[in-house]
Amino acid sequence: MNTVFLNGQFMAASEAKISPMDRGFLFGDGIYEVIPSYHGRFVGFAPHIARLHSGLKELNIQHSMTEADWTDISNQLLALNRPAMGDNLAVYIQVSRGTDSKRYHAFPTGVNPTIFAYTFVIGKEPMADKSQAVTFNVVTGNDLRWQRCHIKSTSLLGNVLHYQQGVEQGAQEILLFDREGNLTEGAAVNVFVVKNGEIATPPLSNKLLPGITRLLLLRILRQHSPLNVVEREISYAEVVAADEIWITSSSKEIAPVLQVNGKPVGDGKVGDIWLKAQQLFSTHKYD
Ligand code: PLP
Repeated sequence: MNTVFLNGQFMAASEAKISPMDRGFLFGDGIYEVIPSYHGRFVGFAPHIARLHSGLKELNIQHSMTEADWTDISNQLLALNRPAMGDNLAVYIQVSRGTDSKRYHAFPTGVNPTIFAYTFVIGKEPMADKSQAVTFNVVTGNDLRWQRCHIKSTSLLGNVLHYQQGVEQGAQEILLFDREGNLTEGAAVNVFVVKNGEIATPPLSNKLLPGITRLLLLRILRQHSPLNVVEREISYAEVVAADEIWITSSSKEIAPVLQVNGKPVGDGKVGDIWLKAQQLFSTHKYD
């Protein structure tokens, strides 16, 4: 049985009910997080919760949850679900503005947020092994999303449409470029580009999500390696001429991209710098 958390209670997933008047349903008015865990240990728990709280603050969704409350709920969900679901689980958290009596755009008063969390199975823990790397072929497109992509909003239609655009072209992700022709991110990932030993990723702004894997990877590479890591604008020309491209997310960690628009990245194989980066990430991600 899959046990979920809804508004203060643990229950069977089949028992969890939310009103159709919930603003999460009507407006996509909410924030979410996905926190990976392997064998009961979370990766990046504190920064995930910090991002959740900063998104809620940005949307002015009032709540009284603390990091300790989230830790408690998340640990209980793992304890309840690991026996049936296995050891590689992500905890999904969603907080919507709550259920109003009418559909009206302005923020309602006197409404409690709807708090939902559940676990789902993720792939096995990524390994620093070229032969076992889960690799991706991607296409490219113009970033047509809104100008608040730094908010991890449940209003994901922009991302969904871009992801689908990639799938319809036979790819597993799509790399997006802003009006100036600079790389922003993928539909559900951040992006790193390697050229002549330099590891670059776009700087944080309203154009991309501040990914926790991105944050941990930058921190780990800077603390534990002599590798040259920079946050700077990256043009389309640089992307297609890269030696290596990686996409990062909580469930993928660092995944090598082998093709962009049907053309090989570098020599078309999993790169040596990826191997080093994933080794360092695997070693230090729980620090
Ligand atoms: N960018 C977008 C648009 C995402 O949806 C995600 C993850 O869901 C990421 C980047 C990667 O973020 P994280 O490393 O926190 O999973």
